[in-house]
Amino acid sequence: MSARGSVVLLMNCDEEDRNHYSALLMNEGYKVIASADGKETFSYLKADPYVPDILITGVHAPVISGVELLQLIKLSQRLRKIPVVVVLNDENEADVNDLLQIGAEDIIIKPLHDTFFLNRVKNTILGNQRITCNNIMEDIVGREIEKHIETYGICKCRMCKRDLLAMSLNRIKPRYVSTEKGKLISEIEKKSNDNMPDIVRVIADCALTIKKNPRHMPHHVE
Ligand SMILES: [Zn+2]
Repeated sequence: MSARGSVVLLMNCDEEDRNHYSALLMNEGYKVIASADGKETFSYLKADPYVPDILITGVHAPVISGVELLQLIKLSQRLRKIPVVVVLNDENEADVNDLLQIGAEDIIIKPLHDTFFLNRVKNTILGNQRITCNNIMEDIVGREIEKHIETYGICKCRMCKRDLLAMSLNRIKPRYVSTEKGKLISEIEKKSNDNMPDIVRVIADCALTIKKNPRHMPHHVE
């Protein structure tokens, strides 16, 4: 997985900071959309059908502050998956626990070293990509299990199905390559199709294990 080519939405009302971080990120291969205020940033998010891979925001901004922006994003079904990194000028600028509670993925406090900043941004993007991949994979495997549950000959109680899903997901080693924004889902689905025989075999294997040794309570047996 790589974070290059990821889209970074950068909200910082300090022009010097904004230019510095934009240049730094672009130099690492990110696409940067920079904004000086929260209202403009939120309008952009509402209008663009694609969500950025990360939002890096300060807390002070005209009209909509960084904290309010974070709240709005985490309240939105469509936008809440965007990881938000808050940059504080010092540790007293905002309550770190509040920010984490609202849903900030990471908080970076200045003064900060450029390399440290870039690494934190990269880790946040990659962590989020992994979650997205896992969710997509879970959908694919879950659908496959539903389709073929009869042929596995296992009990169909919720616990046995959940165990089959969890065990299968653990055994399927995805060889996914991160791609540009918007292409990730189709890329994973394509690779899953290529690997479908493997996936089906893993599920059938796991079903055998579960059939032999189900974890369900005796009264769940159908
Ligand atoms: Zn069962």
